[in-house]
Amino acid sequence: MALIVHKYGGTSMGSTERIRNVAKRVAKWARAGHQMVVVPSAMSGETNRLLGLAKELSPEIPTPALMRELDMIAATGEQVSVGLLAIALQAEGMQAVSYTGWQVPIKTDSAYTKARIESIDDERVRADLAAGKVVIITGFQGIDSDGHITTLGRGGSDTSAVAVAAAMKAAECLIYTDVDGVYTTDPRVVPEARRLHTITFEEMLEMASLGSKVLQIRSVEFAGKYRVPLRVLSSFTPWDIDIDEEARSGTLITFEEDVKMEQAVVSGIAFNRDEAKLTVMGVPDKPGIAYQILGPIADANIDIDVIIQNVSHDGKTDFSFTVHRNDYARALDLLKTQVGPACNAAQVVGDPKICKVSIVGIGMRSHVGVASKMFRALSEEGINIQMISTSEIKTSVVIDEKYMELAVRALHKAFDLELQTT
Ligand code: ADP
Ligand code: ASP
Ligand code: MG
Repeated sequence: MALIVHKYGGTSMGSTERIRNVAKRVAKWARAGHQMVVVPSAMSGETNRLLGLAKELSPEIPTPALMRELDMIAATGEQVSVGLLAIALQAEGMQAVSYTGWQVPIKTDSAYTKARIESIDDERVRADLAAGKVVIITGFQGIDSDGHITTLGRGGSDTSAVAVAAAMKAAECLIYTDVDGVYTTDPRVVPEARRLHTITFEEMLEMASLGSKVLQIRSVEFAGKYRVPLRVLSSFTPWDIDIDEEARSGTLITFEEDVKMEQAVVSGIAFNRDEAKLTVMGVPDKPGIAYQILGPIADANIDIDVIIQNVSHDGKTDFSFTVHRNDYARALDLLKTQVGPACNAAQVVGDPKICKVSIVGIGMRSHVGVASKMFRALSEEGINIQMISTSEIKTSVVIDEKYMELAVRALHKAFDLELQTT
């Protein structure tokens, strides 16, 4: 008998019929003798609907007071889900009880809309499990030290599930979703994408941080830190399939760099449309200029991603960097009104219509020429590369947003991702 955590995403919880299926699947696992903790998301579309209502009434500039209320509102989606799932399980003849984040409690910091989990008190949950109940805990939400409701950022139910699994030392955390695993790239963009049977934790971390939204990045960080066995699998298989077959399906996030993984130079392609580019042109090329430009951006709490500084001509240089698109207007304003004039810039320009496409693979460590193959594939499609950033196991390029799908497809082909066997 093992303690297992199941997480079900919004589509998997999307209707009462689907919730009934989730209940039947969970009941199957419980009847096989496992202690079950289930972490569902809000029903699909619900979080967007709730935040949309809030937006209709919100002032232009978000204040901390507004952010608090956004979490108050968004957290209700998950509260409905857990109650419905508990009822569906009871209808299956199971004992089931649901809890919100504050009832567990799942304690977080106070960063509304992107709070971090600090601790989970599992006493109540353990007592229920010992009494033979299935315990259902809201994803996405927690409570801060002053008793305010917080949420963990979009896609945060993944993180709730993995954090609960870590805190309770669960044997495995199964993330049930609307695809049957982690693919070489988003199968919605490249239909030929192939499911990976395994992916290393490091690669999954890169894929998630570079834009693959199949797992929220913090859930992967938690899994790595606490060594939580993690699997991504489909909630759309018939609920009554053989439990052992189900337990082996999908994609396992591994911690071992096995031989097969080393053969695959590139394991996957990620993309991200959420960034914008800013360029400060004609600044003096002298020590301290990067700090002069980026210091005020950091002080304004704006995260910077890719950075390039061009070679200088006549002692002047251009400096470009990317930020999240949500921070674009604020960053541009800061550069135009303060930073640009302070460092005698000739001009400040911005481009929100960019995207970042990345190839990821631990095999890149031991292979040369991977980046140049990437650049060739893009040039053959006539795609101009605006910025490049590399690390040991990834190469990212910033390109015009309108070429994103073309670039992802071309790279998927260039690295033979449809053909490899894993
Ligand atoms: P859930 O509601 O279950 O949390 P999400 O929509 O957050 O589901 O994540 C699943 C989606 O992630 C898939 O439908 C797919 O379009 C997308 N996705 C992006 N990159 C990948 C990838 N590499 N492999 C699988 N799915 C991916
Ligand atoms: N319901 C939240 C969202 O839509 C959390 C999640 O689904 O993981 O972002
Ligand atoms: Mg998700």
